[in-house]
Amino acid sequence: MFDYMIVGAGFAGSVLAERLATQLDKKVLLVEKRGHIGGNAYDHYDDSGILVHRYGPHIFHTNSADIFAYLSRFTEWRPYEHRVLASVDGQLVPMPINLDTVNKLYGTNMTALELPKFFAEAAERTSVGAGTVATAGEAFERIDEAVGGLVERVRGIAAAGRAVAEETDAVRTAMDEAARLTETSSANTQEVSATTEQTAEAARAMAGSAVRLGEAATALEDLVAQFTVSAT
Ligand SMILES: Cc1cc2nc3c(=O)[nH]c(=O)nc-3n(C[C@H](O)[C@H](O)[C@H](O)COP(=O)(O)OP(=O)(O)OC[C@H]3O[C@@H](n4cnc5c(N)ncnc54)[C@H](O)[C@@H]3O)c2cc1C
Repeated sequence: MFDYMIVGAGFAGSVLAERLATQLDKKVLLVEKRGHIGGNAYDHYDDSGILVHRYGPHIFHTNSADIFAYLSRFTEWRPYEHRVLASVDGQLVPMPINLDTVNKLYGTNMTALELPKFFAEAAERTSVGAGTVATAGEAFERIDEAVGGLVERVRGIAAAGRAVAEETDAVRTAMDEAARLTETSSANTQEVSATTEQTAEAARAMAGSAVRLGEAATALEDLVAQFTVSAT
């Protein structure tokens, strides 16, 4: 019988299982669907005997002494250092940008103390948009123009949005009116149907009256005939 079941033997599941088992004396069932532990950080030796990360390269970083101490119970460490270089115009330069990057890119040999002055001068020659500008003042003018154009476009979009909203309102009103007319028309149809029924009823009554009138006329004719006979 287990106290806990943990799904997934990656960093999270493995650490939690270890903590529960060793610190709280709990019995833990750790379930993993892959054929190995370690989750996405899993590494193994390939056919050439090289240690590879199956799911992509992983580097361990921490500035926590506690984490380092905890992991040291399960692993040995090896000295390691990595450098990331970016390829810019055929040159490999350090990333993130540091003094070496600037010196390599600009062909300079500055010290860290000279860097702020270099950046301040570079700001004066800032490039904005397609052209190069001479001063920061000119750069701000260009930015102003660009922002002005953008504001105009946003206003245009907003106006178009309002027009669409108005048209939508008009369509909605027309649809409401159509719905109302449909209801009225349906009521009228029922009324016409009732009237037709009444008319048919009246026609039937009239037909009955006509029959009775015909009979009365025949009887009258007979009477007139009798009267004619007795008068002669
Ligand atoms: C390409 C890449 C590079 C990375 N580089 C770094 C790096 O340099 N440094 C760094 O600190 N971090 C790096 N990470 C992040 C690191 O991999 C994750 O932070 C870490 O693996 C997360 O651990 P986890 O236990 O939360 O999840 P995972 O490692 O994803 O483990 C989850 C485990 O649960 C299992 N599982 C999931 N569903 C089920 C289920 N239904 N039943 C059974 N088992 C299940 C999975 O098979 C997996 O083994 C990188 C990640 C990737 C993908």
